[in-house]
Parts: sequence; structure tokens; C-alpha cells
Amino acid sequence: MLAARYLAGYPPELIQQAERLRLEGRLADHLARRLPERHEVRSDTALFDYVQALKNRHMRNAGPLNFVGFDAKLRVLQQALGTHTRRSQVQGAKLKTRREIRVATLFKEAPAALLNMIVVHELAHLRELDHNKAFYSLCQHMEPDYFQLEFDLRLYLMHQEDAK
Ligand SMILES: [Zn+2]
Repeated sequence: MLAARYLAGYPPELIQQAERLRLEGRLADHLARRLPERHEVRSDTALFDYVQALKNRHMRNAGPLNFVGFDAKLRVLQQALGTHTRRSQVQGAKLKTRREIRVATLFKEAPAALLNMIVVHELAHLRELDHNKAFYSLCQHMEPDYFQLEFDLRLYLMHQEDAK
């Protein structure tokens, strides 16, 4: 069952519901209705401006960003949403954390609300490395609908895999 993989950890009823939508071929319609707005963020420069604007609004004190860009190799489910390993580089005995925001290339074409959600997710990691309670409350502070949107993103990714 594809939904079980994309929605690991969610209540079984929700997984069943998603799988039904998928098998009945209603996922695309469902997503189009939930997430109608598009965006124009197609380049690394545009993404930088987009991220910087959100950062200025919510996380002005987090220090300047070292890197912002789209990344074609990033796997969203496993690397962005999945269980996080700490994103610090060990340099000698000193831990150095780079403030980098990498967004999977598929978000160029994704609905606007999902780009917003993933950028909020990555911005929250500037302060909280792990997916803990403080991390998610920071996400919710920046995007009150965060949890619903993360669920929608998982549906979207599931649909992308089906469409391949
Ligand atoms: Zn994460």
C-alpha cells in the first residue's frame, strides 16, 4: 500500500482514506481543490528572495543564510520530512552548522502552499535540528496550517509517484 509509506505514523483511518482516494483516481482532483494556487519561484535567485522574505518576517535573529537553492538530488520524504540526522559538519573538534536551505526541485512545479510549507520546515531547522516538539511549534508559528499542509504534501508526493 503506497499510502502506508507516504503517511507512516499517521492514524490508520487516514491512511486508508488516502489509499481509497488514490485507487479511485480522485487524488489529483482532491489536491487541485485543496491547493489551487501556483507560484512563480523557478530559480535559485527567486527562491533566495522568497526564503529571505519569510525569514525576515519570522526568524530575523537566526543569522544570515549561507546558501539557498533548489536541489535535484534531495529526496523529500526520506531526507526533508523523514527522521532527521543533524545537519552539522564536523570540522576538527569543532561543530559548525551552516545555515543552508535546500529545496527539492519538484517544488518549482508544486502548489504555492506546499512551497511555503517546505520553506517554513527548513527555516525551523535553523533553530531546531531535530523534528521535536519545539521544531513543530516553530513551524506552526510561521504557518498555522502547517500540519494539514505537511499531510497534503505527502499526498502530493504520493500522487507524483503514481504519475511517473
Ligand atoms: Zn526536517
